[in-house]
Amino acid sequence: QENTIGWNFSSSYLSLPDHFYAYTNPTPVQNPDWVIINEQLAEDLDLDVKLLTSREGLATLSGNRIPKDSKPIAQAYAGHQFGYFTMLGDGRAILLGEHQLKNGKQVDIQLKGAGKTPYSRGGDGRASLGPMLREFLISEAMHGLGIPTTRALAVVLTGEDVYREQALPGAIITRAASSHLRVGTFQYARKYGTEANLKRLADYAIARHFPQLEEKSNCYLAFLKEVVERQASLIAKWDLVGFVHGVMNTDNMTISGETIDYGPCAFIDRYEPATVFSSIDQHGRYAFNQQKPVAVWNLARLAEALLPILADEPKDAIHGAESLLNYFTEVYEEEWLTGMKAKLGFFAETDIHRSLIDQLLVLMKKFQADYTDTFRALTIGDFSKQNWFKSVEFQAWHKRWKGKLNDQSNSEEDIIALMKHSNPAIIPRNFQVEAVLKKAVNDRDYQPFKQFYQVLKDPYAYSEQQLSYTALPPNSDQLYQTFCGT
Ligand code: AMP
Ligand code: MG
Ligand code: MG
Repeated sequence: QENTIGWNFSSSYLSLPDHFYAYTNPTPVQNPDWVIINEQLAEDLDLDVKLLTSREGLATLSGNRIPKDSKPIAQAYAGHQFGYFTMLGDGRAILLGEHQLKNGKQVDIQLKGAGKTPYSRGGDGRASLGPMLREFLISEAMHGLGIPTTRALAVVLTGEDVYREQALPGAIITRAASSHLRVGTFQYARKYGTEANLKRLADYAIARHFPQLEEKSNCYLAFLKEVVERQASLIAKWDLVGFVHGVMNTDNMTISGETIDYGPCAFIDRYEPATVFSSIDQHGRYAFNQQKPVAVWNLARLAEALLPILADEPKDAIHGAESLLNYFTEVYEEEWLTGMKAKLGFFAETDIHRSLIDQLLVLMKKFQADYTDTFRALTIGDFSKQNWFKSVEFQAWHKRWKGKLNDQSNSEEDIIALMKHSNPAIIPRNFQVEAVLKKAVNDRDYQPFKQFYQVLKDPYAYSEQQLSYTALPPNSDQLYQTFCGT
């Protein structure tokens, strides 16, 4: 008997030319079991939580049962990986369809780790528990931080082993996204399709994400501008919380402006602009301080892909694209500066000398200050965790900062509220993430993971619960490395 759980699938992607996707069903798994479910998100998606958490739900989230009206596909895309153009596609992710919400929005529901697809190349189409839980935790933490991101609905075990030099428990994450259109989807269209097909993809993206542009005369240039704006704002938000994505290949950059692909990402602890965590990023292409230029590089690849449809005259198209890339810097600077001012307690309308920010960052780098803890300390006036706060240099800066803060007419309560809202008390610290993952994978003890997940939902709360997670990392974490999520 069909049990719909509340799924309301449509398949608008199938209206695109058929070389953009391949019909692919999830490969059934042996012995599915629950690990974690995001009940709040399930409710927000108008799903029946009770049914979703039943055996029926487990069957769909493990790929063993295909919900009514779902026409599962793998999406084709290309991408520059570490600068090299490659033909890719969903190698282990299967799109169940676009779930329609009562509020009119549509959300892609994708099973990642659901088996081989025509784009799997050498891969097994599967995923293991640790990396899927890592994606669940960090993407939901990003959402809690107020940063646009794909969401995680659930992680389930497959009951099968996957082999990554050793046998590991297989798992599937259910990812929800406003779409899975990527810069690389357009690169694919440009490389393997006709101009007409490129237009169809752009029209699809506009209808889905920027319907207000549909009537515009130069709508493809306006489309590029919207993507540039969203990405500039996104990267500024990453930088403000110290998030290092780690694998900003063009296939891992969305058109929607949501963060996607939580493989080797991590948050900085000590403030070192050149931080690289990913073990495979040997030249620091995706270092913390490279995210902005790399985003511009990626968007230049999008502009390049769109070039034939940007304007009638090639020189107009190139000119239009170039000025949009300058627009990135404008949007980024505005968002970052407003955000950094707020972190220091200055309201947007307050004029401050940029040197106040720059001097702090110079000192933070010199003393290898902990990024999150420094702003937490400034917010609540607790300077107990780091020794560098005792330095003459910090004391002098602190005096100058306080003086400038007091020039504002706003009340102290308003200033502290602004700072609390802008400076997370907690982030998914690398050592804490590793500890809860180890418990989950080695001992199948999900309790520490679930507790950490609970507090990360509300990282700006300075309550006792959050503050119990504010310990600084051990020194050994300076060598912290991440590996591509497998
Ligand atoms: P990523 O580095 O996560 O962006 O993945 C790059 C490409 O490799 C994408 O096309 C993935 O679908 C594919 N891929 C990653 N892991 C696997 C796997 N285990 N099996 C098949 N394809 C995979
Ligand atoms: Mg990817
Ligand atoms: Mg990945």
